[in-house]
Amino acid sequence: MLTIRCTKCKNKIFRYLKVGKGRVLRCHKARILRDNSLHRGTKVLCRCGNVIGTDEGNSIKMHRQAFFHTGTKVAKE
Ligand SMILES: [Zn+2]
Repeated sequence: MLTIRCTKCKNKIFRYLKVGKGRVLRCHKARILRDNSLHRGTKVLCRCGNVIGTDEGNSIKMHRQAFFHTGTKVAKE
């Protein structure tokens, strides 16, 4: 389980079930367990206004500089 946090305000944006060891490039919406983000059109924002990703329908393409994460990744599905 990862906690995705905003680099600007350090607040929690998502609780996310990450599968695999790769970087977090996209967040699949089905695996977002808690969503504190705001959606404005296709933009996904932190509550402080920082744009953290782009809504692509089933997933959110994350902007690498806009977030960091803490927690552990699940090794296998
Ligand atoms: Zn923020």
